[in-house]
This record gives sequence, C-alpha cells and structure tokens, in this order.
Amino acid sequence: MFFQIPGYPDLQFGSLYCIGRNYAKHAAEMNSDVPDNPVVFLKPRSSIIFTGENIVIPELTNDVHHEVELVVLIGQKARNVTPDEAGSAIKAFGVGLDMTARDLQAEAKKAGLPWSLAKGFETFAPLGTLYPYTKDLDLQNLSIEVQVNAEVRQKGQTSDMIFSVNQIISYISKYFTLYPGDLIYTGTPEGVSAVKKGDQITATLGEDISTLQVHVV
Ligand code: MG
Repeated sequence: MFFQIPGYPDLQFGSLYCIGRNYAKHAAEMNSDVPDNPVVFLKPRSSIIFTGENIVIPELTNDVHHEVELVVLIGQKARNVTPDEAGSAIKAFGVGLDMTARDLQAEAKKAGLPWSLAKGFETFAPLGTLYPYTKDLDLQNLSIEVQVNAEVRQKGQTSDMIFSVNQIISYISKYFTLYPGDLIYTGTPEGVSAVKKGDQITATLGEDISTLQVHVV
C-alpha cells in the first residue's frame, strides 16, 4: 500500500512535519535570521519516495534544491510533551531530503505567503532506511551528508542543530497531536544547491546508520 511504512507493517505514514532554519549556517546562506522558536511547515504524504525511486522536477520550477535532513518517525501519540518526555515518542530515525523549489519559495517569502507549494510536490520528500530508536542513541551526535554524482554537497553534524529533536517534538506537540506514523524532517545544514535531470543523489546519516539513493528525472 502506498502509505505503508517499510519495515513497520503495523504503521502507515501520517503527517509530514518539517523544520526550517534549524542550523545557523544554513539560515545565514538563506539570508535568514536564526529563529526564536522552531519554524514549522508541512508536506503532503504524496511527496514521500524511497531508495531506487525518482525525484521528478516539476515544470512549475527551474530551481530545485536538495536539503539533507535527519528524519524521525513517531511511534507513540504525543501531545504537550516536555523535551525530556519527547524521546518516548520516537520509534525510528533515518536520513531524508527536503526537496525545495527555491524559486517558488523565494517568491512566497517575498509575498509573505506559506511555503507549501515550494515544498510539497510529489517526490519532494525522499526517505532513507529507518533505524530503530532506543534512548541510549544520541540523535544530536550524528554526521549527515549528501553527495550528488559522487561529489559531497552538504556535510554536517546534528550537534549543530539550533533546536534538538526533543525540543522540536515538544514544540510541535504544543500545537498539534503527534501520532504514530508521523514524520518530522528536522532541518538542513549549509551547502544546499540545485539538482538537475540525470543527477544521482546519495544521502547518509551516521556513516551508514541510514542511507538513501535517488535519481533526478
Ligand atoms: Mg528543510
């Protein structure tokens, strides 16, 4: 089934939450200020694809960027949880790409409009392998990298996040109820750049804890 989560037959994908400007150097390269609170937006489930599938560049944009991100899968309902309680809500994690039509996003920002149309196209939320989460794992001490045609474009550390995964879950849960099957894309380090048809993208988290390979068409 389309919304079935690979490796978790009892779970279906729910909402896709994303965090913007969560690494200071990426905020700087976007000429944005570092936010006081997490910047939250959503994508539709129809944007999810997996390894071996294709990112399709839509005709409505001429400038699609990769943003490599740590993604967490929620496994337990969470509403108004504290950062200390947030870890209990995490079922698994992995690497993902928040693909972005940068030209449409720039237009939206300029007009003070939401980013949904720039972020939510089909195939714009590639998701890598999911690794089961346990509380002894430190999600804030992982390397994260994306290569395009075997060239390193982004190389970061989750220790550089402005808001930790637990702080993000706590913050989102003040506004929305998180449910099993929801995903959170937690923001990207610096180095975002454009992709083009024919590109081969490889993303990794924590060396080989999670990997993702997709092709651009
Ligand atoms: Mg992003």
